[in-house]
Amino acid sequence: MAGKQIQVFDTTLRDGMQGLEINFSLEDKLQIATALDDMKIDYIEGGFPLSNEKEAAFFREVRKMTFSHSMVCAFGSTRRAGASAERDPHITALLESETPGVVVVGKTWRAHVEKVLGTDDEENLRMIADSIEVLKKAGRHVIFDLEHFFDGYLDNPEYAIRVLQAGTDAGADTLVLCDTNGGTLPSVVSRIYTELPVASLAPLGGHFHNDCGTAVANSLAALEAGAIQIQGTINGWGERCGNANLCGFIPNAVLKLGYQPACADRLSHLTSLSRFVAEKANIIPDKRQPYVGTAAFSHKAGQHADVLAKADYLMEHVDSSLVGNERHILLSELAGKSTVVEKLAKYGKFSKNDEVVGKLIGLLKEKERDGYEYEAAEASFDLLVRRALDRYEPILQIRNYHLESYKAYDTPSKTVGRIFMQAHNKDLMGAAVGVGPVETLDAAVRDALEPHYPFIGRISLTDYRVRVLNPERASAARVRVFVTSTDHQGRTWDTVGVNENIVEASWEALVDSLEYYYNEFVLGEK
Ligand SMILES: [Zn+2]
Repeated sequence: MAGKQIQVFDTTLRDGMQGLEINFSLEDKLQIATALDDMKIDYIEGGFPLSNEKEAAFFREVRKMTFSHSMVCAFGSTRRAGASAERDPHITALLESETPGVVVVGKTWRAHVEKVLGTDDEENLRMIADSIEVLKKAGRHVIFDLEHFFDGYLDNPEYAIRVLQAGTDAGADTLVLCDTNGGTLPSVVSRIYTELPVASLAPLGGHFHNDCGTAVANSLAALEAGAIQIQGTINGWGERCGNANLCGFIPNAVLKLGYQPACADRLSHLTSLSRFVAEKANIIPDKRQPYVGTAAFSHKAGQHADVLAKADYLMEHVDSSLVGNERHILLSELAGKSTVVEKLAKYGKFSKNDEVVGKLIGLLKEKERDGYEYEAAEASFDLLVRRALDRYEPILQIRNYHLESYKAYDTPSKTVGRIFMQAHNKDLMGAAVGVGPVETLDAAVRDALEPHYPFIGRISLTDYRVRVLNPERASAARVRVFVTSTDHQGRTWDTVGVNENIVEASWEALVDSLEYYYNEFVLGEK
């Protein structure tokens, strides 16, 4: 039986942009809009055209693009008190953005009408009605966002219902109840939706903020109480604690509750969409994000891995491939033969008694004694496996590197570096100047290799973490360096290096990163 159809509305490019540390260039916004259309998200809120030139430029550019599924919407508020809607700057900006859809936000909470707008209840209703009517007359699909709906309803339910009625009578296509300050809990959401006189109203939607950590739960409660549209953002970014995370909401609605939004048939693209948007925002994806995080289907080695090998449904609530994620078996000191066999599976069929399994267990123990840790550095472990199986092609052979850091009393410190290596059957040299030694070394390696291996340009280092292993030895302590890398497709991988010298440990993690990419993705393409 086909599930109930619902609409998914993305506001990553508008509300998401209000989030801490979230910034997208115009080009990023256009690329994200394309990715959301590929995902068959029903509505894309592109921004607030009146707020600044960058927002207005988005609407000029997006007009030239064709979308196969999504309707692009501009966002703005109702007309000002005591003025005409036709000549209002907000309404004019919405019309001039030339989007097929518009979102118009209005007040529901009487305290806001009085204290923020400085007007009275009746004028607020006229502002809503006039604004929606003008936009409908211009042929737009109108989504009416009722700001602070839940607080307004709890304060005065009669007035909140009059606001809904005003939106309906003016012709709004959807009335979206907004939990603007994010303070409402799911039980209250359910109760309020069921108390509304829905038969006389336009279809309802929901827009929830995550200040109580319940934005996804509230969205699901709204759906179950009859809402047909949910607004949220990719990765849950947004003002303060964020918005409902569509990466959690969509799989819950589809896989757990059987709803059928258009994006249901694109569910397996969700993980890559989440990582793509994170990459555009230059934010390290949250590993523990439900469904799409790298930890979502990660299992510590040992007993859990044994159970998984027998029947995965005993350990995982859904199949990771449904959302485009994958299972990770984490390697730790507890790693047993069955974990290594599982890891080897991508290279063929192996059993616990195979020589290579015993060899890898021995190697792993030795490396762990030296301070290596592969739980968060699967790419380095993959290289160990490749070497043990003789399925490894090195990318470079180091001859020497030379780094010199200098600082004068009135200038910032700098590092100059040179590297000599054999690669691509040639003797190569790379040089760079950077702030610190690791950055300089990375730039010098790229300088030497990129002309011969253009793929190096697709790789960027997104995270770098250092841990001192035995601090009692002071400056001779060993350090462990983890490097996270990513490519243009949003694939990420982690590598590790250990040494008493932080530069050498970083070098090891850096070379592992390049060699992993080369062996795993580049040689495979040929
Ligand atoms: Zn919001």
